Amino acid sequence: MKFAVHATVAGSQARAATLHTARDAIETPVFMPVGTRGTVRTQTLTQLGQLAELGAPILLANTYHLLVRPGIEVFERFGGLHRWMGWPRSILTDSGGFQIFSLTGTTIDEAGAQLRLPGGQALVLSPERSIAMQRAIGSDIMMVLDHCIASTSSHAEAEAAMHRTHRWAKRSLAARGDSAQALFAIVQGACFADLRRTSADALTSLPGFDGYAIGGLAVGESRAQREDTTELVTQLLPEDRPRYLMGVGMPLDLLEGVHRGIDMFDCILPTALAQQGVAFTSRGRIDLARGVHRLAEQALDPACGCDACTRTPRSYLHHLVKCQEPLGWQLLAFHNLSFYVRLMAQIRAHIRAGTFLAFRAEQRELLERADPDHPPGRRPRVKPAKPRRRGEFALHTSPRGFVSLQHVPSGEIMHSVNDPDIEAARIYVEQSVLIARALAAPPAAAPPLVVWDVGLGVGHNAMALVRAIERARAPAAELPTPRDSASPIELVSFERDLDAFRLALAHVEHFPHLRHRAPHVLAHRGSYRRERFTWSLCEADFLTAFAGQPQPDVIFYDPFSAKVDAAIWSLAALTRLFDYLTKPVELFTYTSSTAIRSAMLVAGFHVARGVASAPKRETTIALTEPHLPHALLDRDWLAHRERSSARFPTDVPAEQYATLDQVIAGHAQFGAMR
Ligand SMILES: [Zn+2]
Repeated sequence: MKFAVHATVAGSQARAATLHTARDAIETPVFMPVGTRGTVRTQTLTQLGQLAELGAPILLANTYHLLVRPGIEVFERFGGLHRWMGWPRSILTDSGGFQIFSLTGTTIDEAGAQLRLPGGQALVLSPERSIAMQRAIGSDIMMVLDHCIASTSSHAEAEAAMHRTHRWAKRSLAARGDSAQALFAIVQGACFADLRRTSADALTSLPGFDGYAIGGLAVGESRAQREDTTELVTQLLPEDRPRYLMGVGMPLDLLEGVHRGIDMFDCILPTALAQQGVAFTSRGRIDLARGVHRLAEQALDPACGCDACTRTPRSYLHHLVKCQEPLGWQLLAFHNLSFYVRLMAQIRAHIRAGTFLAFRAEQRELLERADPDHPPGRRPRVKPAKPRRRGEFALHTSPRGFVSLQHVPSGEIMHSVNDPDIEAARIYVEQSVLIARALAAPPAAAPPLVVWDVGLGVGHNAMALVRAIERARAPAAELPTPRDSASPIELVSFERDLDAFRLALAHVEHFPHLRHRAPHVLAHRGSYRRERFTWSLCEADFLTAFAGQPQPDVIFYDPFSAKVDAAIWSLAALTRLFDYLTKPVELFTYTSSTAIRSAMLVAGFHVARGVASAPKRETTIALTEPHLPHALLDRDWLAHRERSSARFPTDVPAEQYATLDQVIAGHAQFGAMR
């Protein structure tokens, strides 16, 4: 890799240079779009090619994310990320240091970071593993693994992490071996000037680094602290190597970073803010979600040539943002990335022309300006942020941008895989023969149908039932008195910790199924009543409280997994439940665990296959009586069970395994098939 400086600016550290990778001559200062998982979110390869032509022929990819999925073997098979994603230009890979820092539940020691992956398996991310992964990815520029900490950490913590970063940098150099890929070191030391000096000295005295990054910023410090630290460090770095300010920032941060001697930037803000409807324009920052744009005819930015700016009025962009249409995100992300890349091109031109300081003076105010046509009113438009955590629960945003709740102590995410409303309807409501019968108009004098909702959670299953009832009972012209013709339905929701439900009710924007009066009344009064429907709340542990409740016809069994709540899935609990039930009952649950199905059979239930719910190929239905029309597990399942090493409920001691196998093999459900 070669780095040649062409122009510098008196009174500023700004410089224009060319960074030669094996693939590109990259004009710097440069902004690198972030392609976390081998994709710059929403952007096509054609658009990335256009951005490359505008001056961004290099993307950033995240080693940690690509290591988790798809895994190193994929890059070994395809000879790297370039060919795999179809991107022929340059790639810089980060090392995973920032992800180690930002993921909860990670322990870091000298070896590396012990991570627990979303699927539960353990992974050690060491400097060597990070370099091995980056070599497999085949990036043009690799980063050393660093120990990143909050910029507000104490001096002692920052110093320890810095020294570890230096030791890891040496290990990364060794792990690089004979690779032709460039390798950058990362200066750490939080906002302590003495540590930043020590770190810059230590790393520049190690031979072999092709460039230097400033890490550990944009993680909670003020803009002034960030700028001071940047300025201090760039002065200590060699003139003939590129300098990269990691993860920063807003357009003004880029301008100020260049002024302080930075050559390379990356940040997710252009795409992340686009998702929220925020666009950077030559006249200021515009929030397209605001109602003032509903009828706005003007172009987003007359100075921009992108589709968002040349083909549609702001009104249409506002509409796309309000409907959360992916196209809105797509258009605005390209527009924002173009804005960043154009800004860097202007900066380079002004450095070369000797007019950088005048450009900086003119842009400093402009880049921070909010919508000049519709200045935000006197009242703060943005309401104070609502707490994102309550008790043991916190809002969790998935990589796909979909918000659910996380049980913080266990790390378990509710509904991490599927759309919970679809799952609720499919598994718990649509499969139930008894609910279908109750909704389909039996005599008005029929006894109520009782539904137990075990594990209210954030109310997806209960609300799926509420919606089904409303749909079935909606007045229709051809039905004379539909409301009186169906059985009354009583829903009892069990929940020992209402914090999750209350947190979701405070954030209905992320939980649209709760946009209904019923859950709010339930949380407030403990019950909700309407027409021939009653919903009551039993705020207690299900196993201690169910015996006091009216006998159910249908049970939605949707508690936390056995990993978090072993008792509720135990043979003892299921036996007690079976013994208590007096009516024909359908119990629906999301699991297809062989051990839990075994416990159900031993408890006395008949057990049937439930519908698939990706990624599970099936779910489970337990029945007190087998006459209901569900597909009972057959002898094929029994044969499968006998081969399974995980077929025993956790509360059964090993000396009872043989007896339990016999009881299951002799269960009426299988006997009848012989
Ligand atoms: Zn545009």
